[in-house]
Amino acid sequence: MEKIKADLLIDNAAEVITCVPAANNPLGKIANGAVVVADDRIIAVGPRDALEKTVDLSGAEVVDAGGKIVAPGFVDCHTHLVFGRSRVKEYALKMTHSVADIEATGLKTGIPASIAMTREATKEDLFSGAMDRLSRMLRYGTTTVESKSGYGISWPHELKMLRVNQRLDQVQPMDVVSTFLGAHDFPPEIDREDPHQRAAYIRELTDEMMPRVAEEKLAEFCDIYCDVGYYTAKESATVLKGGMRHGLAPRIHTDAYANIGGSSLAAELPAISADHLNYPSPKEMHRMAAAGVVGVVLPALDFAVAHPDPFVARPMIEAGMTLALGTNLNPGNWTESMQFVMQLACRNHGMSPEEAMLAATTGAARVVRREQHIGCLTQGFQADIQIWDLPGFEDIIYRLGNNAVWMVIKNGKIVVRRNVS
Ligand SMILES: [Zn+2]
Repeated sequence: MEKIKADLLIDNAAEVITCVPAANNPLGKIANGAVVVADDRIIAVGPRDALEKTVDLSGAEVVDAGGKIVAPGFVDCHTHLVFGRSRVKEYALKMTHSVADIEATGLKTGIPASIAMTREATKEDLFSGAMDRLSRMLRYGTTTVESKSGYGISWPHELKMLRVNQRLDQVQPMDVVSTFLGAHDFPPEIDREDPHQRAAYIRELTDEMMPRVAEEKLAEFCDIYCDVGYYTAKESATVLKGGMRHGLAPRIHTDAYANIGGSSLAAELPAISADHLNYPSPKEMHRMAAAGVVGVVLPALDFAVAHPDPFVARPMIEAGMTLALGTNLNPGNWTESMQFVMQLACRNHGMSPEEAMLAATTGAARVVRREQHIGCLTQGFQADIQIWDLPGFEDIIYRLGNNAVWMVIKNGKIVVRRNVS
C-alpha cells in the first residue's frame, strides 16, 4: 500500500491532547505523541514509530514540540466580536459605583450604549476593530470563532454587521461562523411596553430580515435574548421558529438573570444551544440533555458583571448535558482568551480541567455544528492545532492570566509562532 505523503510533522510532544475520550483517559492523551498533517487535514495521530508505517514523512516540515503540549485549537462558540467602541469608562466606574449612579452622570450603559456606538460606526471601523480582536484570539489559540450581529437592531445596521462577519471569514485564517441576533434587544425607537410595537418588530425580524439573511447566506444561526426586560419565551418561540423556516438553526441566550421559560423552549424546539444558564431547573436540565441542547456557559460574563448567582456546572453535567465554553467577548465582558475562560470555569464554576478542555473544543464544535471537522485531533479532521509551552496539561488552568501558546496551526499552516519564555 502506498503511504500518504505528509506535509507537516509535529514531533516529540510531551503529550498530545487529542480530545477523543478513551477509557480512563477523558482527553485521549498520548504521551510522546506526534501529529501528521497533509494539506489542511490531520492524517495520523499517535506514537511516532507507529505512524511511520502508514505515512511518508520524507518531505514533511518538522515542528519539534519537545517538552510541549499539543492540543486542538479552541472553538469560541459565543462572541459579540463586532461592535462600535469600547465601554471601558462604564466598566471602570462599575468597580465603585452602581449602574444607576453611572447613568445619573449621563453615561449610556449596557447593550443600548453598544447599539448607539455600532450604529455610528462605519463598516470599515467595525471591520478593523474586529480584525484586531480576532488576531489576538488566534494568538491565544482559538482557531474557530462564532460572531453574532445584534448591535444594529435595524436592518441596515444588522446587515452592516453581518457583512463584516462575512468579510472577516474571508480575509484571515480563522473560520468565522455568523449568527443573526437581530433579537438581541428591541429597537431604541420603539416603546417596548407596547405589545403592538413589539409584535411589529418581531414581524420585521421574521418576515423581512430573516429571508434576506438566508438568501444571501449571511448567517447559519439565529439567536435571541430571552430574559426579563428583553424577549418573552413566547416571543422567542415565534422568532426562532421564523428562523428555522428560513434554515437558520436556533440558539438562545437565556436564564442569564431570571428563569422565564427559555430553557424549556430550548428543549422543546430543540435549540442547538442554550447560552448563559444561571437559573435552569433540574427538570429543564434533564429535558435539555434529552433533546441534545448544548449548554453554553460564559464564565467571563459572570466574572465581569460580578454575577449574584454564577452558573453551576455540576448539576448540568450530572443531568447529562454537554457543556461548551465561550468568551462572550463583547464591550461589557472583554476577553479574547479561552485560556482565561477555562481558568474561571474551573475555579469559579466547579468544572474539572478535563471538562473545561472538552467544553472549549469538542463541546463548542457541536454548537457551531462542526463536530465532524474540528474540536479534536484525529484522522480526517481539519488540522487546527495549538502547542503550549507548559510542563503538563493541568498547567493550562493553573498558570493564571498567561498566554501559554507557543504555536498555532490553522488548516495545516503555521500561523502563529511565539516566544513564550
Ligand atoms: Zn451573548
